[in-house]
Amino acid sequence: MKETAWLKLDKEKVFKFCSEYCDFLSRCKTEREAVDYIVSTAEKSGFLPIEKGGDKIYEVNRNKSVILVVRGKKDLKEGLRIVASHVDSPRLDLKPNPVYEEEELALLKTHYYGGIKKYQWVSIPLAMHGVIVKENGEKLNIVLGEDPGDPVFTVCDLLPHLAKKIQGEKKFFEGIAGEELNILFGSMRKEDKGKEKEKVKGFILELLEKTYGIEEEDLVSAEIQFVPNFKARDVGIDKSCVGAYGHDDRICAFTSLKAILETENPEYTCVLIAVDREEIGSEGATGMKSKAFENFLIKIMDSPQLRDLVSVFENSKVLSADVAAALNPTFKDAQEKHNAAKLGYGVVVERYTGSGGKYSTNETTAEFAAEIRRIFNKDNITWQAAELGKVDEGGGGTIAKFLANYNMDVIDCGPAILGMHSPFEVASKADIYETYRAYKAFYKE
Ligand code: MN
Ligand code: MN
Repeated sequence: MKETAWLKLDKEKVFKFCSEYCDFLSRCKTEREAVDYIVSTAEKSGFLPIEKGGDKIYEVNRNKSVILVVRGKKDLKEGLRIVASHVDSPRLDLKPNPVYEEEELALLKTHYYGGIKKYQWVSIPLAMHGVIVKENGEKLNIVLGEDPGDPVFTVCDLLPHLAKKIQGEKKFFEGIAGEELNILFGSMRKEDKGKEKEKVKGFILELLEKTYGIEEEDLVSAEIQFVPNFKARDVGIDKSCVGAYGHDDRICAFTSLKAILETENPEYTCVLIAVDREEIGSEGATGMKSKAFENFLIKIMDSPQLRDLVSVFENSKVLSADVAAALNPTFKDAQEKHNAAKLGYGVVVERYTGSGGKYSTNETTAEFAAEIRRIFNKDNITWQAAELGKVDEGGGGTIAKFLANYNMDVIDCGPAILGMHSPFEVASKADIYETYRAYKAFYKE
């Protein structure tokens, strides 16, 4: 009989661990910020860039994904122990030509990234995070909207008094359209700057240039993301949960980082992968579908023969570290209660994700699932086996299937979340802690 993890956990230890996690989440709201945090934390623990070599190394790909390695006693050909998460999260990205003026308001056009319920992203304070690269290569890192003195940004919704037809007669999901996610950027003008009809935009652009040295064309070579400006907070009268933007999937990046930092002289070589682009299907150079991981292995192998690389892959074992959906008592009709993950019941093991009929998913073998059971039970880790939702209700995927394509054993393994992909997702502190312990147990095997 499964029981809540709280019964056996030391609450003080768990809360301390999670307060560090909250600090990480509050500071790292983009993949670049998460990668920087992972690298600087790893460096403090003695990790060196791949070029320098050694037993603890890392490699960063385009500032947006990272791999950490702790060399084990066995040869690489005996296989790796990999925990792979992603550090990108759903958000609003700026379009290449974002700034426009309408009715004497300056606004920004956005293109959302990842699977969002658009109506959740209006009328909340947003912060601006990202990087602008000037023509000469000079980089401007931007974080605006996090400090109390900073301005924030927002998408203004329509008042309920006038929304009866325009929104009320639409289907729920279509209430806010992608092209309606326009961010209020300014409303003031002083002189008649700019074109005849774009005086506010003219004033805003002048302000951007004077204050930040940014020209309009710089926004073409920029990655600007608008994200909720909330800090990660304790949720509930008992403070048992953490509410935050971006649990998915920095929760697994953080817990696997803590686990690998505490891994010394393991039997097998341990690897942490934190990739980008998962939320849009893992496409692109910094996503899991890219050849970057394979290339990395060739770089660290003593004899980079293809045959040896095949051995590395065939003998490797992977935890695809991503979040699961926790059973929400208000919407439990979407899930099948015998196979839904429960908040506080520890790390979730999913043999497959996908949707109705097990389409588009990896499925872990019974043999590997048994091995995972053994590892977790041996360390008294609270874990639960689950599926995402009801068979015909929809579904989702993770990077598991891309890793499995290398012919490695892969299983999905991470904490369950309430309100996944919303601006304020909720996770149980007990599950966060058990996820960390699970990854650590896996590494030390
Ligand atoms: Mn995810
Ligand atoms: Mn996701």
